[in-house]
Amino acid sequence: YTGKTGSQLLTEKVKKITVQQYQSIPVVVNESSSVYDAIVTMFLEDVGTLFVVDQNSSLMGVLSRKDLLRASIGSQKIETMPVNIIMTRMPNITMCQKDDLIIDVANKLIDKQIDALPVVREFDKGSGLEVIGRLTKTNITKVLVDLANDDLI
Ligand code: ADP
Repeated sequence: YTGKTGSQLLTEKVKKITVQQYQSIPVVVNESSSVYDAIVTMFLEDVGTLFVVDQNSSLMGVLSRKDLLRASIGSQKIETMPVNIIMTRMPNITMCQKDDLIIDVANKLIDKQIDALPVVREFDKGSGLEVIGRLTKTNITKVLVDLANDDLI
């Protein structure tokens, strides 16, 4: 018997959960896609955040619902406006890696006041970032539910 309290055991459990265990499939659009096409993709794929990549599939930007709404109420035509002029771009993207702790990612989401972040992996000796997952507030909510049900993997 370790003599640890219930809450100490819970804390230890929470601090072992990694991004990999809870990440979702990422949805990406090319940086040359139009704002119109990004909106269609957001509806069809049923996600709130899109990641923007270049021809090499390297992460270039992030598009939120409000980014797309803002562009839509502007005066320019969204059919011809490329997403790369409205996206939040590198190096200002908050991201994580599959082995990061979920609690650290949760703190980033709160700190930056964002809904999701890309899970990335370096390629070409670090010159590119491949988007391998998506970690959202919903994934964090799932952690809470699993903890309550004692369903942690
Ligand atoms: P919404 O804008 O729909 O409320 P968010 O709160 O996620 O959604 O996004 C707020 C702003 O932060 C947007 O301009 C978006 O481009 C940007 N953003 C979203 N996710 C990230 C991220 N992982 N890294 C950097 N910026 C982000």
